[in-house]
Amino acid sequence: MPAQTSKILPIPTPETETYWKGCAAHKLLIQYCTNCDHFQFYPRSICTQCMSRDIEWKTASGRATVVSYTVMHRSVSKAYGDEYPQILALVRLKEGPQMMSHIVDCRADKISIGMSVEVTFQDWTDEVSIPVFYPLSS
Ligand SMILES: [Zn+2]
Repeated sequence: MPAQTSKILPIPTPETETYWKGCAAHKLLIQYCTNCDHFQFYPRSICTQCMSRDIEWKTASGRATVVSYTVMHRSVSKAYGDEYPQILALVRLKEGPQMMSHIVDCRADKISIGMSVEVTFQDWTDEVSIPVFYPLSS
């Protein structure tokens, strides 16, 4: 596990601190509103459906579907490595919310909309891990 990185790291806020701690423990935590039975991502202090503050954290299944993607052929910084192309994707979690992430362990010519993927985590530092997704089948 790397101790240092020159990558741009997330800065947790009161709303996102639990999410990032979950990622560090390799758990994908998303918010769930007990008032209206609604999952949401990204983390917020209120439910986006009913404005309730009755929100709790649940561990997501980690299963998702690719909604859209783009293939990046160049890095913006050497900090992000030199293994290109990389796939940036919008995925829809099984629970409903969508999130931006990377697809790993997948050739750029094999990615497709509707592909089933599952979360894994990249350890960027001793304290920061980032959720990424890999194909469940190719
Ligand atoms: Zn709600």
